[in-house]
Amino acid sequence: MQTARLRLLEISYEISRSILHRLKPVFRQNRVTSTVFIGIETVTKKPLFNCKMCGQCILHSTGMVCPMNCPKNLRNGPCGGVRQNGNCEIQPTMKCVWVRAWDQSKKMRNHQKDIYTIQKPLDRRLTGTSAWLNDIHSSTR
Ligand code: SF4
Repeated sequence: MQTARLRLLEISYEISRSILHRLKPVFRQNRVTSTVFIGIETVTKKPLFNCKMCGQCILHSTGMVCPMNCPKNLRNGPCGGVRQNGNCEIQPTMKCVWVRAWDQSKKMRNHQKDIYTIQKPLDRRLTGTSAWLNDIHSSTR
C-alpha cells in the first residue's frame, strides 16, 4: 500500500476513534446501534481491508493489514512457515499477512511501534459484532 494512502487511513482511524469515544454516552449497546455499526463496518472495512468482522480490530497495530486474512488467524506475528520469498506456507501465491503488516507498520506515522504490542487471544464470541462498539465500550478512556 502506498504511504500516502496508509497515512490517510491512519488519520481516518484516529479521527473516527476520537469522535466515537467522545460520543460514547450516545452509543448505548443495543440491537439498533449494533446493527447500524455492523452495517457501516461491513460496507467500509470489507472492501478496504478484506475485513472478516472479528469484532476486535487491531488494524492500527498491523500497518492497516487485517490479520484475520492469515489462514492460521494468527494475531501475534507470523508462523514459522513463511517462505523465502515472503509468501504464505498455506497459500503460496499470497504474500504473508505478517510480512505485509511488518512492512506497512514501518510507514505508519503514529502507530509504528504498535506492532510490538502483544495481542490478547481472539475472542470468537465477538465474531460478527462491531469492533468500533466493542472498542468504545471496553475502553476506560
Ligand atoms: S482485525 Fe478484525 S475487525 Fe479489524 S479488519 Fe480485521 S477482521 Fe475486521
